[in-house]
Amino acid sequence: MRLLLIVVSVLFLSIAPRTLPVDPADLVFKNGNVYTANDAAPHAQAIAVKGDRIVFVGSDSAAQQFVGKSTRVVDLHGNTVMPGFVDAHQHLSGVGFREMTLNLEGTTSLEDFLAKVKARVDQAKPGEWVTGRGWIETHWQPPVFPTRADLDRVAPNNPVILGRADGHGAVANSAAFKLAGVDKNTPNPFGGEISKDKETGEPNGMLLDAAQGLVRRKVPPTSAADAERAVVVGAKRDVELGWTQIQDAGGSYDDIAIFKKLYGTGEVKLRIYKAVYGPGPNANRLLSEGPILGEFQNRLTVRTIKVVSDGALGSRGAALLAPYSDKPDTSGFLTVKAEELRPMLVEALRKGIQVETHAIGDKANRFILDEYERALNEVSAAQRKISAPRWRVEHSQIVNPADIPRFAKLGIIPSMQPSHAIGDLFFAPSRLGLDRLAGAYAWQSFIKSGVVVPGGSDAPVERGEPMIEFYAAVARKDPKGFSSDGWHPEEAVTREQALKMFTIWPAYAAFEEKLRGTIETGKLADLTILSADIMKIPELDILKTRCVMTVINGEIVFAANT
Ligand SMILES: [Zn+2]
Repeated sequence: MRLLLIVVSVLFLSIAPRTLPVDPADLVFKNGNVYTANDAAPHAQAIAVKGDRIVFVGSDSAAQQFVGKSTRVVDLHGNTVMPGFVDAHQHLSGVGFREMTLNLEGTTSLEDFLAKVKARVDQAKPGEWVTGRGWIETHWQPPVFPTRADLDRVAPNNPVILGRADGHGAVANSAAFKLAGVDKNTPNPFGGEISKDKETGEPNGMLLDAAQGLVRRKVPPTSAADAERAVVVGAKRDVELGWTQIQDAGGSYDDIAIFKKLYGTGEVKLRIYKAVYGPGPNANRLLSEGPILGEFQNRLTVRTIKVVSDGALGSRGAALLAPYSDKPDTSGFLTVKAEELRPMLVEALRKGIQVETHAIGDKANRFILDEYERALNEVSAAQRKISAPRWRVEHSQIVNPADIPRFAKLGIIPSMQPSHAIGDLFFAPSRLGLDRLAGAYAWQSFIKSGVVVPGGSDAPVERGEPMIEFYAAVARKDPKGFSSDGWHPEEAVTREQALKMFTIWPAYAAFEEKLRGTIETGKLADLTILSADIMKIPELDILKTRCVMTVINGEIVFAANT
C-alpha cells in the first residue's frame, strides 16, 4: 500500500507545476557568507527559518521558494553567518554584577586601582560596604597584589572587598577584617589561605579561595531584585556579543528560580545550560529531583553538578604535583575532599547526572581523572542511567602530558578557555618553569588525542567576548600580537577547529548536538552574524569584528544599528 502511494505521488509530481509547493518560511536570510560547521556541507548563502527551526540551507536562488507573502526576508549584505556561538563556561550573574558593582577590569597600575576605589568610596555612605571585582596585577609595575594598607589609604572607614578577576582571590581593607573578626590568630579555612605578613604575622589583605568567605559573609546579602537584575544585565550583554547559549558553570536553585521567572516574563531569551555546585545541598537536590531538560522552548537545561577541585594559577591556589617555581614553599591546594566526592559521583552515574569539575593544576587534573575513573569502574555502563555520561573537566589548564590521553580513554571532555592562555602565559613561566608548560593550555594536543574541546570565556574571570576567545584560540598571542618563549604556538587551533569549539563541540558537551550547534535543516535556528569573515581575515582583525545580529530560536534577539 505504501509503495503504491509513493508510485502515485511520484507520477503526480512529474506532471505537477514547476515549483514544489513548500510551506513558506517565517524568515529567510539571503546574501550571506554562511559557515555551517557541518562538514558535509560547510558553506551556504541562504537560510530559511520556520518557527524555531531551520528549514533550509543552501543557495539564494533555491531559498526563493520559501518566500511567501508574510515571509520576512533579511538581506545580509555578504555578512558572515555562524551557528549560534556558545560560551561553554561562563558565570552569568557574575557578568551582570561586574557591570553593576565597581568594575575594576582593565586597571593598569596600583595607583589606577586605588583611584577607582577612592572614587567609589567617596560616594558611599559612612560604613557602607564597597564591593567589586576585575582587577589583575600581572601587568602592574611591579606585578604584586594590592594590600590591606594600600586600601586603608583610600578607604579608612568603609569596609571594602575587591575580587581579583579570576575570582580565586580578593583584597580587603582593615575595616572589613575588623568586622569579620579575622586577625593574625585566625587559622586558614580548608581550601583557602589568609595571606599574612612574614614578619608581623598580621593578615596583609589578600584572601585566597575559601578564605574570602571569612570576610564576604559580613557583606549584606544581595537583594532579590539585584540578583534578578544581574541576570538580565548579563544576558543582555551576552546576546549583544553574539552568544546564543551560555553554559553557567555553577550556582544554586535560587538562580534557577530567577531564570524561570525571567523566561516566563520574556525578559531573557539567551539559552542557559546550568550547573549547580556540589557536593552539598544543591547537588543533592538535583540528584533526587532529576534534571530539568529543555524547558522554555529548549532554553533551560539543568543536568550538571559543578565541583571545584583547586584554586587558580595567578593566586598560586592551583594544586600542582611539584612546588611553584617562584614560591617553592607551596604547591597550591585541593579544595574538595575525596571522601565527600566519591558517593556523589557514584550516585550521579546511577541517576544520569553530568559532573563538571574545575581543575587548573596538574595535581587537581590527575586527582579528578582518578576520581572519575574510580566511579566509572565502580558503576558499570549497564548500571548507569546514561552509559556515556560525558563528564567534563573545566579548564584542564596544566595537565601532565601523561594524563592527556586519559581524557579520550575515559570519555572525559576538557572544557577550555582560550583567553586564559593569553592572559596567563605572561606569568605562567615564572609560576611553573618552562618545562611544565608542555601540557599547559594544550588545546591541539587534546584535539589530536581524540576528544572535543568546548570553548568558553569563564567571564567575569575574563572579558567574555567571543571574538577575544576565537582570536586567542587561533593566534595564541596577546591582543597586540605578542607571544614569547614557552607559549607553545603549536597548541593553537585552526579556524575550522575554533568554529567548532564555540558551536558544535559545546553542543555535544551539553548532549544537544542533534538539536543545535550547526546550521542544518531541522536544527534550532540559532545564528551569530558577524561584520567580517573571521575564517579568512588577518588574525588581529578578528578582534575588530563585531556581532551585527543574534538569532535565538528563530527570533532576531539583537540587531546592531548599522
Ligand atoms: Zn569558572
